[in-house]
Amino acid sequence: MKKILVIDDDPEIRHLLIDVLRPHFEVRTAEDGVAGLTAAKAEKPDLVILDLLMPRLHGYEVLQLIRQDEGLRGLPVLVVSSKSYAADQETARKIGADDFITKPYDIKALLKKVQELVGGAKPPVTLRFWGTRGSIPTPGPRTERYGGNTPCVELRVGDQLIIIDAGSGIRELGRSLMREFQARPISADLFIGHTHWDHIQGLPFFTPLYLPQNRFTIHGAHGATESFADVLRGQMSHQYFPVDMKTMSSNLSIVELDGPLQLGQTKVSYHYLNHQGINVGFRIETPAATVCYLSDHEPYGRLNDRGEFSAKEDDAVARFVWGASLLICEAQYTDEEYKSKRSWGHSTFADVIGLAAKAEVKQLALFHHDPEHTDEMMDGFVASCQELIHGRGYRLECFGAQEGAALHF
Ligand SMILES: [Zn+2]
Ligand SMILES: [Zn+2]
Repeated sequence: MKKILVIDDDPEIRHLLIDVLRPHFEVRTAEDGVAGLTAAKAEKPDLVILDLLMPRLHGYEVLQLIRQDEGLRGLPVLVVSSKSYAADQETARKIGADDFITKPYDIKALLKKVQELVGGAKPPVTLRFWGTRGSIPTPGPRTERYGGNTPCVELRVGDQLIIIDAGSGIRELGRSLMREFQARPISADLFIGHTHWDHIQGLPFFTPLYLPQNRFTIHGAHGATESFADVLRGQMSHQYFPVDMKTMSSNLSIVELDGPLQLGQTKVSYHYLNHQGINVGFRIETPAATVCYLSDHEPYGRLNDRGEFSAKEDDAVARFVWGASLLICEAQYTDEEYKSKRSWGHSTFADVIGLAAKAEVKQLALFHHDPEHTDEMMDGFVASCQELIHGRGYRLECFGAQEGAALHF
């Protein structure tokens, strides 16, 4: 029988939970944060149900100590609190709560969440491409299938919404979210790899940012000379745009990357890429799949060709994406095109296949398509990539990312 530890200072709640859970689970209880942490270490439970406001250590402290402890780090934690503020739910999720439920709760809903977390049911993961084009939007009949909007990828991990990059594709994502959520609040984490135009130009047109019921955290690296927030604000200064970023009335935080982030059951880490200015790639690990996103990047070996030194830097990138279920990787040029585009900060198809094979990733999505590459040309490039993979005997599935396409894990 799986074991659940209830940490709550309210004896009535402890008794209620014992009654509800005991038919299905072995239940242990603790009456404050210190006792709870000690019990977690001693009892090795399969799930902790954690109250927030308790004597000695409060719930946030207990949660952080669990996540820092070598032996307890992966332990599922369900936070239960009468604090119904979105800010508290967000904080709990940020410091590693797997889920949050507000008191008083519906017993059936609580049991369902407990069973999901204890049973190890993996939340379904869906990924959708909203923008796949590199450098500049290229609408028109020649790019209809692979898409003309610049980078934006949506990732759903159960109810969790993660967005990568805010190219022009994010506008249509915004429309789709508004249709789906209607008046319900939208909460999402948006990760920006770098702030070149094609990766942020859709942000001012992402309507959910202007609605007060929504909550967004935009994550990105500190810029070369300015803060991440200032760079984002810059594109909406009056010289470039009619309205100021201040008009975005959602609950919006702009935060700089500072080490790996745990968002519920999802872990997001980043790695610097070789591109003009500051640019990072992301590794997003969920219980069901690991998705890596590298855009834009020019292999060190290609650009610098400093033998072992460059190889070491390229190896670090391969290690970062190692074993991914899906690698979304920019692949902008053919070998022939690269000759005149060296030092433009991008990869060739062959580079990317080499990287994916070395890193033993399962699926490779060719991404950030060159504005000059039409659908017909893209079909040809994808076919030659598949031939190259076959010829070299790699076990790698490769496709060209198409706007609107979705993958399920
Ligand atoms: Zn780009
Ligand atoms: Zn760029």
